Amino acid sequence: MSRILLLGGVGDALNIARRLGPQDIYSLAGLGKQPSDLPCQLRVGGFGGAEGLAAFMASEGIDLLLDITHPYAAQISANAARAAELTGVPCWALRRPGWQAGFGDDWREVSDWGELSAALAPFKQPFFTLGREPLEHLQSIPDGQFWVLRSLDGHPGNDRARVIGARGPFDLEDERALFAAGQFDVLISKNSGSTATEPKLQVARELGLPVLLLARPLLPVVEREFVSADSLWQALQDFRPTEIL
Ligand code: NAP
Repeated sequence: MSRILLLGGVGDALNIARRLGPQDIYSLAGLGKQPSDLPCQLRVGGFGGAEGLAAFMASEGIDLLLDITHPYAAQISANAARAAELTGVPCWALRRPGWQAGFGDDWREVSDWGELSAALAPFKQPFFTLGREPLEHLQSIPDGQFWVLRSLDGHPGNDRARVIGARGPFDLEDERALFAAGQFDVLISKNSGSTATEPKLQVARELGLPVLLLARPLLPVVEREFVSADSLWQALQDFRPTEIL
């Protein structure tokens, strides 16, 4: 019986994990919530680089590696591609396309934190939706700026910053209320391409706010790449139809 190792950590991965079999393994880094009701096995924590992942795959008799990690989780995707090379096991990846600016959008791409800091200089009330990284900079917020940060878990703020602990999906009406209360003058985001976090862009558009987008990292090419979870799921059914259905 073939065995799948699914590298996850995003909603699309969890949806696929919920349809895998008892011999399959769903793997999480361990930063977020851990589901307790999966039909497959759950393992949590790093493998120890590409070599560690390859060794795990060999010892567990993995036949197919699925990379359905976040598009900004570049290290684990690189490790997955390398482990596939080392073991000769195929790697399939979900490479969700990024959001595209529409008419009237003022989106500016920045390549890293340094470029982002410089681009932020004219603003007073930025809203960060980058995850944990801005938490490392709470002690160096420029005079005249008040930051609101949203990340998975709560965190103490300070007199120049407030941290909101919240997990998507985020509702359009709730986002409108948050932007109105916070009086943000710029939105900072990754370009995840996820519908779960897209409403904030709609609100920025409605309010005419600029959006600073952190550029996507380069991800490795793997044997098969899919742009949607549905197309990946279809291919999985062809891979082992009788076991999954
Ligand atoms: P990363 O920088 O690409 O990975 C760092 C290390 O974490 C990897 O080298 C690996 O450790 C371990 N790791 C990552 N994903 C793993 C998985 N699914 N199973 C087992 N080990 C894993 O990743 P990150 O940006 O810190 O993100 C960590 C996890 O959170 C990812 O699984 C990602 O899907 C999820 N996530 C990330 C973001 C984001 O914005 N980056 C957003 C939402 C969810 P070893 O080298 O020891 O194997």
